[in-house]
Amino acid sequence: MIKNYKVIKMTQIKWVYNFDDGNSTMRNLLGGKGANLAEMTNLGLPIPSGFTITTEACVYYMENQTYPDMLNEQIIDELKIVEAKMEQELGNTDSPLLLSVRSGSRVSMPGMMDTVLNLGLNDKTVKGLAALTDNKRFALDSYRRLIQMFGTVVFSLDSEHFEDVLTEKRNEEKVKFDSEISVKGLEDVVDKFKAVFKKDTEMDFPQDPKIQLDYSIKAVFDSWNASRAITYRKIENIPDTWGTAVNVQCMAFGNMGDDSATGVTFSRSPVTGEKTLYGDFLVNAQGEDVVAGIRQTLPIAELETIMPEIYKEFVEISDGLEKHYKEMQDIEFTVQKGKLYILQTRNGKRTGAAGVKAAYDMVGEGLIDKEAAILRITPGDIENILFPRISWHTPQKKVEIDSKIIPVETIGKGLAASPGAATGKVVFDSDETVALASEGESIILVRHETTPEDVHGMYASRGVVTATGGLTSHAAVVARQMGRPCIVDTDSQSIMRVDIKNKTIRSGDVIIREGDFITMDGFSGKIYKGELPTEKLSELPSELSKILNWADSFAKLEVRANADSPIDNKRAFEYGAIGVGLCRTEHMFFDEGRLPIMQKMILADNKEERISFLNILFEFQEEDFYEIFKSAEGKPITIRLIDPPLHEFLPKEIDLVTEMFEMRLEAKDELSEAQQKELQTKERLLVRVQEINEMNPMLGIRGCRLGILFPEIVEMQAKAIFTAAARCENKGYDVHPEVMVPLVGFENEFLAVRKVIDRVADEVFSDTGIIVDYLVGTMIEVPRAALTAGEIASGDKGAEFFSFGTNDLHQMTLAFSRDDAGKFIAHYLENKIMDSDPFETIDQAGTGKLMQLAVKEGREAKPGIKIGICGEQGGDPASIDFCHRLGLDYVSCSPFRIPIARLAAAQIALKDK
Ligand code: ADP
Ligand code: MG
Ligand code: MG
Repeated sequence: MIKNYKVIKMTQIKWVYNFDDGNSTMRNLLGGKGANLAEMTNLGLPIPSGFTITTEACVYYMENQTYPDMLNEQIIDELKIVEAKMEQELGNTDSPLLLSVRSGSRVSMPGMMDTVLNLGLNDKTVKGLAALTDNKRFALDSYRRLIQMFGTVVFSLDSEHFEDVLTEKRNEEKVKFDSEISVKGLEDVVDKFKAVFKKDTEMDFPQDPKIQLDYSIKAVFDSWNASRAITYRKIENIPDTWGTAVNVQCMAFGNMGDDSATGVTFSRSPVTGEKTLYGDFLVNAQGEDVVAGIRQTLPIAELETIMPEIYKEFVEISDGLEKHYKEMQDIEFTVQKGKLYILQTRNGKRTGAAGVKAAYDMVGEGLIDKEAAILRITPGDIENILFPRISWHTPQKKVEIDSKIIPVETIGKGLAASPGAATGKVVFDSDETVALASEGESIILVRHETTPEDVHGMYASRGVVTATGGLTSHAAVVARQMGRPCIVDTDSQSIMRVDIKNKTIRSGDVIIREGDFITMDGFSGKIYKGELPTEKLSELPSELSKILNWADSFAKLEVRANADSPIDNKRAFEYGAIGVGLCRTEHMFFDEGRLPIMQKMILADNKEERISFLNILFEFQEEDFYEIFKSAEGKPITIRLIDPPLHEFLPKEIDLVTEMFEMRLEAKDELSEAQQKELQTKERLLVRVQEINEMNPMLGIRGCRLGILFPEIVEMQAKAIFTAAARCENKGYDVHPEVMVPLVGFENEFLAVRKVIDRVADEVFSDTGIIVDYLVGTMIEVPRAALTAGEIASGDKGAEFFSFGTNDLHQMTLAFSRDDAGKFIAHYLENKIMDSDPFETIDQAGTGKLMQLAVKEGREAKPGIKIGICGEQGGDPASIDFCHRLGLDYVSCSPFRIPIARLAAAQIALKDK
């Protein structure tokens, strides 16, 4: 018999791994927590023994609603090994083994099951534990916690039913904390807890430890499909098929007296990245007391005073773990009677700023190299750094609202747990937050403390405030990861009081009700009344700047900006753009003083009249270009000739008709001479508007077509560009204009426009005696241009550069109008007809093929032709990947996306190596 069993055992699947058997590469199988517990065990760190039940076992259980074959046997085998090591036995009265049961999937998931601690206690073993430790209060405290956790976690009982018993007992004994309840009192609490358990579950609290274990393991498995876990996975894009592992581990007791403690600490600050321990702990406490924010925690620095030896050991371990994992660590520990145990380590969830600073510092410390630093920063980190702040008029005291300078009213202060400023209406409930946010409201979610049940509300909110909780509380950790500003612990940091039941915040005389506006400053931890103005950071933090400089040296793609004004240019260059890839000129005509002239120019009856208005516009344009060139400080500027859907410049037909009708109505047909004249003008305008009116203006006289019909418009723009350039050169500024012809589809279109540009350039140069180097190129945005790129680039007079205008190129390739496509894109994405929105990320399989062809033909016709992209997709990391693979020279995007584009360009180059 026994022999046979061994044969089966050798061929069977291994469902359970002892901590000795695993390592951190096995996180898919063992979950993140299990894999790291194994890794730390093998590093020789003080880890309580235990084993991990694999995610595969969970998947099997979910599919079949029963344990796989041999799982139970393997659990018993591993348990025996642990029992032998500890010289304890589950359920043994003289030396009881006590366990914790912990969930742990591949990635940490706050939506999952809570931990069950002290498993193995029952009416008999609790006595054994008391005798063994000579500490009856500890044994009883542990037992009452087991009943409570087992009830709430495994059977989802209402924790209030247990808390009420404790509150009653504290009141009865007139003490403040649970840890002060007498032994006699605790005995009573245990009895009452058992009664609560029986009442709520209609069964006795299970006395058999094996049954306790079995229930707990299945509860962890089931928690994978709890609704809050499913919600979290949806938000974070985690596949439902992964399953969770279960870790079964010996207990380390932090609640054995004043020489015991438990805490959570980061190896560096997850807020700023500074290299100081960051976190909190509690003396004589267990498990989630720290995270739950029920008792006032102590900052980790105080551990040095209270337990200097332990502190020293902890610092060494924390440093060692950082060196080992080469990442900021988030470490859970427990001290049992003067002995330190490590219960968990993982890469710390941190803000973007912290991630960047830590990465930069670690290069300096020799922990990682520059490549690694660049690769570990994410686009999200950079977005996070460029978070909004309150725009202070005077430092921290006054703000400007509706051009009035007003003082702010502080209503509270807490610990600054996650950075960023947010302003919104106060809401005290997560479901409500989701409902209002979906209607477009900005909401600040205010809670006493958050639990995994609040994750959807936190996500929908602009920011989170909690009355209790420390820097490692649920609210703090989750908000940091989501990139929401967060302030915690307002209760003990200020006079502000949150009253969830009555949906109010009180602070002295001030009362804030649900729906009132507040502003929170996640940098300082302060909370203000009302809706204060916020702004985004304009300068990159120095560590980020330096890392991005390293990034530039690895990247193959250069990064330019889409910027139309000296102010935009300044921001873009500060963010590291090497030039401007798209300076649009239409915007320059929308100005109040210019639009009427523009309209008159468009409506002119003949060339002469048109030129007279163009001459006025020339003055404006020349000045615009002069300022733009000056601000470029020698960097290349690609100026796109006007691309005007004409209807955008003209009044709407219906408006004109209405105005005329009203004029007649008012004057009752007795119009003054002046009125008659005005009416005539309007009539003329109406006729022109009707003439110009196009069925589809986006496919009408746009782009180079206008300049081909009316070359005097190109002439004016070219003259403005070269006159401004010459004026700049004359003043000693270096200028590199690149003139870009929009919406070309035929080689001959390009040649026609270029001819005018070259002629005007020659004229200006001979008039001024100054010669400016310039390029003339085209946007590739009409599919025909992509298909005939070779012709467009060929010859002396062919295009000297291409810039993919991927907004129009997608519109025309997909036959999607950017203005209407919103109506079906969401549906297409949901139903997986498309994987992504082509106006955000390049449609590589379709439109991308046109781009590929254009690059190939363009380069064949003109080796070394400069090619870039200037559509919105130019700032999107996936599109940047694609552009890198196409071998483009540059991407151009809005100033705000430039740091992200620089990072993405380097990351793809490094991955490609
Ligand atoms: P989470 O995934 O929510 O962090 P954990 O499994 O880490 O859950 O458990 C939560 C807390 O329970 C830990 O921070 C620790 O304080 C306590 N805990 C877990 N296992 C043990 C153990 N073996 N001994 C003592 N405390 C434990
Ligand atoms: Mg937990
Ligand atoms: Mg943990």
